[in-house]
Amino acid sequence: MTLRELAKAADGFAPTPTMPVLFLGHGSPMNAIEDNPFTQGWQRMGKDLPHPNAILCISAHWETRGTYVTGMDRPRTIHDFGGFPQALFDVQYPAPGSPELARLSQEAMTTAHVGIDHAWGLDHGAWSVIIHLFPKADIPVVQLSLDRNLKPEQHYALARELSSLRKKGILIIGSGNMVHNLGVIDWHNPDGGFDWALEAGTRMKQLITSGDHSALVNYAANGKAFQLSIPTPEHYLPLLYTLALKQDKEPVSLFNDRLVMGSIAMTSVRIG
Ligand code: ZN
Repeated sequence: MTLRELAKAADGFAPTPTMPVLFLGHGSPMNAIEDNPFTQGWQRMGKDLPHPNAILCISAHWETRGTYVTGMDRPRTIHDFGGFPQALFDVQYPAPGSPELARLSQEAMTTAHVGIDHAWGLDHGAWSVIIHLFPKADIPVVQLSLDRNLKPEQHYALARELSSLRKKGILIIGSGNMVHNLGVIDWHNPDGGFDWALEAGTRMKQLITSGDHSALVNYAANGKAFQLSIPTPEHYLPLLYTLALKQDKEPVSLFNDRLVMGSIAMTSVRIG
C-alpha cells in the first residue's frame, strides 16, 4: 500500500456494503412540516435503509459556477423560499456537516476542480426531505452543488466518479422533481397531472426501469412533453446524479409515484 492509499483508508468512514442511492421528488417546501403520503413514503424509506455514515445530497436548489461541496462543521438551515407560514421558517435541521466527506468527495471527482464551500449550508431541497428520512438530525450531511456550466452528460459523468463513496456508508441523495414546471402549475389540482406531464413521466419511468440512461441524459431530444416537463434543468439533473451511480444488475424501485398540481412529479427512485 502506498502512503496515499494508507491516508485514504484512514478517512474515518468504515467500509460498508454498497449503500443504496436515492432520488427524491421533493415538491413543495410545506412537505417538511406536513404529514401526507409523500412524507410517509420518505419516513418508511428512512427506516428501511441501512444506517449511513453520512449523506451527500445534490439539491436542485444549489446552482453555482463551478462545482462545490459544503465543508462546514455546522451547516445552517437555509429557508430559501418565500410566502410560506412562519412554522416552516421556524424549522431547523441541525445535522452536523462533515469536512471529511467534503474532502473525500473532492478527491473522488478527479475530472472537475471541486471547491470547498463555507457559506452555503442545507437548503430546503436537502432538509425538507432528509428531515423525514432521519428526523434525529444525527447523520452528517454535505451538499454538492450543480455546476451551471456543465451539460447533462457532464453531470452524469461527474456523478459516476462518486461511486466509491457508496462503499464507505455514504448515502447519496439527488433531490429535485423529474417533472417540474412551476410556470403552469395548477393549484386547484392537488392530485393529478396534465397530459404532457403524464406522458413524459411515464416515459421517464420506462427509461429508468429499463436502464436506458442515454435517452434520459439527452432529455431535450425527447419531444414536446419532455420540454414542457423540464423547462429548466435544475430539478431534473439530480435524477441524473442518482442514475449515474447504478451498477450493473442493481435493482431499481420507484416510490411516491404521483403527479401533483398538474406539473410536478413526486416520483422517487431507489437504486440498490
Ligand atoms: Zn424544488
